[in-house]
Amino acid sequence: MTLLPLPYARHALEPWLGRETVTLHYEKHHAGYLKKLLELTAGRPGRVTSLEWIIRSSEGAIFENAAQIWNHDFYWRSMQPDGGGAPVGAVHEAILDGFGSYERLRREFLDAGTGHFGAGWLWLVLHGDRLQITTTHDADLPLRTGDTPILCADLWEHAYYLDYRNERARYLEAFIDHLANWEFALANWSDAAARASTRTPITEGSAAPARPPLARSR
Ligand code: FE
Repeated sequence: MTLLPLPYARHALEPWLGRETVTLHYEKHHAGYLKKLLELTAGRPGRVTSLEWIIRSSEGAIFENAAQIWNHDFYWRSMQPDGGGAPVGAVHEAILDGFGSYERLRREFLDAGTGHFGAGWLWLVLHGDRLQITTTHDADLPLRTGDTPILCADLWEHAYYLDYRNERARYLEAFIDHLANWEFALANWSDAAARASTRTPITEGSAAPARPPLARSR
């Protein structure tokens, strides 16, 4: 198991997220979770082949570190340079269906993220056949509730403190207005729709992706 490469240069999200933020976040925090997971699972090589399987079958520190690796992989791909704003096409239609308007989604995203106490994650998920905003605490993630992640923002202070200090709202506004990767959202939404139509269960060793798919290029 290795660290997935960042899908862009470390300075690519400036001025919304600085090079130092991305570098420390990826090289120290994200890489640190992988290092710790490998330490915790040393001698159990058969259990580290699928990150998603570890997440679904573990508790405690092994779950927390595995989930943080998955969450960060998903987070980096939830952003792109010159992203954000209202999407077009199929995702926009799904947003209208779930929220009534893009502005309503944006407001729920900001309210949920700023209202979340302490560390965690802010998600746009597919709940049944509707898009919803939700948050999870610490390392927890929608895979444990059956919801399908579509986009996520890291709510841990290390994600924004260097650029925004304690102003989480400004960081989340930058995310939704300038960084959100709606093409990645579309890919996740389309994959979920395809899985729902074939009703393929996710089992160890199945063809289900163990890591988030790469974002589509613009
Ligand atoms: Fe983080």
